[in-house]
Amino acid sequence: MLAALGVGIPKAAAFTGTVNVTATPIVQQDLTRAAKFWQTVSLPDGATATPACRRLTVVKRAMTPARGNNGVLYPPQVIWAETRLGGCTISLSPAAWASRHQHPVAFCVTIAHEYGHALGIGDTAAIALMTDQPADRADTFCAHPPR
Ligand SMILES: [Zn+2]
Repeated sequence: MLAALGVGIPKAAAFTGTVNVTATPIVQQDLTRAAKFWQTVSLPDGATATPACRRLTVVKRAMTPARGNNGVLYPPQVIWAETRLGGCTISLSPAAWASRHQHPVAFCVTIAHEYGHALGIGDTAAIALMTDQPADRADTFCAHPPR
């Protein structure tokens, strides 16, 4: 029944605008997990232990083209989330946001990866969590978070 609601709605029209999801419980939980995780790893040169911003904002919105490992440019339709290096806002694609309850570990890993960008760490295969290939990211702390 629900699927029928989407029939005839162009994909581009299915989502417009930016929605602030920072205060949602799953985002708050995963931001806390990410902050704890990044306290436990040695950071590369140029990264900061805490985000430059006092508070990170998490939004869902349409993606824009972005660069991954080694500067490879990706089109928006394959991008799950975006965060400027040292930035204050984590942007989640509508698909990433929609997956949060069905795939909570992957969602947690996404938040932690984007949190890494907020710390100033770029996409790199040298840090398991920071590769631009989601399937290769370490997820142990999300699957079994510290208490
Ligand atoms: Zn990234």
